[in-house]
Amino acid sequence: MKAPGHIIFLGAPGVGKGTQAKIIAQRLLLPHVSTGDMLRASVTSGSEVGRRAHAVMESGALVGDDIILGIIAERLAHNDASGGVIFDGFPRTLVQAEGLDRLLDSAGKLGIKHVLHIVLADEEIISRLSGRRVCEKCGAIYHVNFHPSIREGLCDRCGGELRQRDDDRPEVLRRRLAVYKSETAPLVSYYLSKPGYAEIEGSGDTAAVSARIAAILGLEG
Ligand code: AMP
Repeated sequence: MKAPGHIIFLGAPGVGKGTQAKIIAQRLLLPHVSTGDMLRASVTSGSEVGRRAHAVMESGALVGDDIILGIIAERLAHNDASGGVIFDGFPRTLVQAEGLDRLLDSAGKLGIKHVLHIVLADEEIISRLSGRRVCEKCGAIYHVNFHPSIREGLCDRCGGELRQRDDDRPEVLRRRLAVYKSETAPLVSYYLSKPGYAEIEGSGDTAAVSARIAAILGLEG
């Protein structure tokens, strides 16, 4: 990527945003900013934000825009965000997208360089999410069929226990997909007309999708 700037990963839950965002963050040496991870950490720590967000997250609905924009404003104020960050799971509503534009404008900060929209059929999304397992210690992501750990239930990287996220249970999953369609999908038209928008086919394995993204970002291999 020639000039610095923020990168947004857009797409339904389960399209592989998290996995791809982490890979790109490592390659570009930019912070990976996942509002889902930040909220889960707040729930675990029992903070005020965590207490307010917990029940909403368990239901598959979206946490309030004010809370999310507050978290993001705080995160962008850190020194390590000055060269750009990789947003994963944010923005998720038009109010958040407009709020982000305001945050970036007002502080004379870097702009949004790329909006990478990963697309995948619903059936594939449901199959991926219902088999997803996450290491409760280091956050590594596995899949019971497509990317199993070597020792069942244990992380290959750190030995932590693998868990199914509460909101990956089938009944919550359907709600999350419906929420995506009503609240987040409209963001596509918001970003479509702006520079840096690109659609990426999310089917195939992690490496195949990474290669498509690398090509768009002008990275080698
Ligand atoms: P994720 O890990 O991105 O799938 O997020 C898990 C849950 O956290 C979502 O289902 C929402 O309840 C909440 N969440 C994460 N990011 C946002 C956001 N940008 N806006 C509102 N809610 C969010």
